[in-house]
Amino acid sequence: MTIGAGQQFAEIYKYAEDNGFTVAGGTSSTVGMSGGWIAGGGHSAVSGAIGLGTDNVLEFKVVTPKSSEVIVASRCQNQDVFFALAGGGHNTVGVVLESTHNTHPVMPLQVASIAILTPNAEAAQKLMELSASRALEFTNRGWGGYLALTPRVGEVSAVLMVNWKLDTAEATKDMQPIIDFVASLPKENVLINGVFPVKSFYEAFSKYFIRETGETVPVGMASTAGSRLLTDELWEPAALNKTVQSLQDYMMALNPLPTEEAYGALVLLCLTSPYKLPADGLTAEPKAWRNTVIHAFGGVAWSTLSTLKYKKSRLDALDQAVEILRRLKPDGQAYFNEAYYDEPKWESTFWDRNTYDRLVKIKAKYDPSKLLNCWKCIGWKGPSDPKYKCYP
Ligand SMILES: Cc1cc2nc3c(=O)[nH]c(=O)nc-3n(C[C@H](O)[C@H](O)[C@H](O)COP(=O)(O)OP(=O)(O)OC[C@H]3O[C@@H](n4cnc5c(N)ncnc54)[C@H](O)[C@@H]3O)c2cc1C
Repeated sequence: MTIGAGQQFAEIYKYAEDNGFTVAGGTSSTVGMSGGWIAGGGHSAVSGAIGLGTDNVLEFKVVTPKSSEVIVASRCQNQDVFFALAGGGHNTVGVVLESTHNTHPVMPLQVASIAILTPNAEAAQKLMELSASRALEFTNRGWGGYLALTPRVGEVSAVLMVNWKLDTAEATKDMQPIIDFVASLPKENVLINGVFPVKSFYEAFSKYFIRETGETVPVGMASTAGSRLLTDELWEPAALNKTVQSLQDYMMALNPLPTEEAYGALVLLCLTSPYKLPADGLTAEPKAWRNTVIHAFGGVAWSTLSTLKYKKSRLDALDQAVEILRRLKPDGQAYFNEAYYDEPKWESTFWDRNTYDRLVKIKAKYDPSKLLNCWKCIGWKGPSDPKYKCYP
C-alpha cells in the first residue's frame, strides 16, 4: 500500500478494510503514517502479530537537504536514508513525500472491552494488579492493546485488548478474573464488561478503540507524556511483585488528590510490542522492543488557563513518576514518540549505542548544515539553540 505523507490512520484503515487487508497502525484517527509515527518506530495493538511500523515499511520517497532530487529509500536502495527514516527519530534526513507499506490478510479478532467509571483508587490498583501481573502471559497468548487506568473517582478505566489467536470462549476464559472483578463493582460503575468477536482490525478500531478511548481532546487542553519500555525479565517470578508495585506507584504519582486545578492523568499500559518477532537490523528502533512486555505510558495535562507554576509542577510530577520506572530498569529505554520530553540520557534511551552513532553519521551526510532539527533528536543543537529563545 502506497500512501501520500499527509494520510492519517482513519482514512488508511478504512481504505485497508475496503480493499480486504490489514495494516499495522496506531490507535488514533489523526496520526500520520509516513511521518512522525514511523520515524519513532510505530507501535500498534496488533504489533505482536505483524510487527512495528518499521517492520512493515518497504519504501520511502524522500527529499533530503543535500539535493533537491526525490530519492527512493528502501531495504535495497539508499539503505542509510531508509534506516534513518524508519525509527531514527524526527527530522533526521529529509521530508517524506510518500511511503509504501506491507499489508496483511484481514484478521478476525476477539476484543476484550471492559470499562468502568472508577469507583475508588483501590479498584484501579486492583485492575492494575490483575492485568499487569499477567501481561507476559497475555502477550504469549496473542493479546495486544491497552490497559488504560486512572485512580480518579468517576473517570474511565478500561481494558481494551484484541486477540488474534483465541476463539471467544478461550479469550473470555483468559479475561475471566478481570471480568469477575469488574462484575463485583457497583452496577452503575460498569460501562461494558466482556469479550466480543469482530471480523477485522478496522471493526475493532472503529467500534471499540476510538469510541471507548473517546479520542477527542477538548479545545484548550494540552498534555505531554512520559514512558518506558518494560522488558520481560521484569516479569520473572522474583521481579514480578516489584514490577506491579512500581506500575501502581507510577499511576498514583501521576494522579495527585483532586484539587481545583489538577487534571487527572491516564496511565496506558500498552501491550503493543513485536514481542519475540525478529528484526532485520535495517531499521533504527531499539532492540528492546523485541523483549518488551509493556510500553508504560502516562501523561499530564493542563489548560490554556493554567499558570506557568502549575504547568511546571505537573512536568516535575511526570518526571518523578517516570523516575519510578527508570529505577525499575536503570539501563532501560523508552519509545521516542511518547517519551518524557526532557529525558536525561536521551541518546541511549531512544536508541542502541551503535544505532545512535550510525544515525549521527547519516545525518551529517544528508543534512550537513542541520537544516532539519528538533528537540532531543539526532543532530540536536542543544537547549541554547536560538530557536528556543522565546520559551519560558
Ligand atoms: C492521540 C494520539 C495517539 C497516538 N497513538 C499512537 C499509537 O498508537 N502508536 C504509536 O506508535 N504512536 C502513537 N502516537 C504518537 C505518534 O506516533 C507521534 O505523536 C508521532 O510523532 C505523530 O506523527 P505525525 O506525523 O502524525 O505528527 P506531526 O506532529 O505532524 O509530526 C511529528 C514529527 O514528524 C515530522 N514529520 C511529519 N511528517 C513528516 C514527513 N512527511 N516527512 C518528514 N518528517 C515528518 C515533523 O516534522 C515532526 O517533527 C499517538 C499520538 C497521539 C497524539
